[in-house]
Amino acid sequence: MHTSESLSVEVEAEEQVLCASCPHPWNEHDALGVRYCTASTAAGVTRGCICSR
Ligand SMILES: [Zn+2]
Ligand SMILES: [Zn+2]
Repeated sequence: MHTSESLSVEVEAEEQVLCASCPHPWNEHDALGVRYCTASTAAGVTRGCICSR
């Protein structure tokens, strides 16, 4: 009996990229939140965020 199968388990690192203008990771932003925070970052202002959590 021979086993020549090579199991390639690719585990993606759950890298959470934090938003520049709020303490939430980008993946918790909805489409509107991304636009809002992107605009905030571009404007260099801290005006809170509209994230739901
Ligand atoms: Zn944000
Ligand atoms: Zn936020």
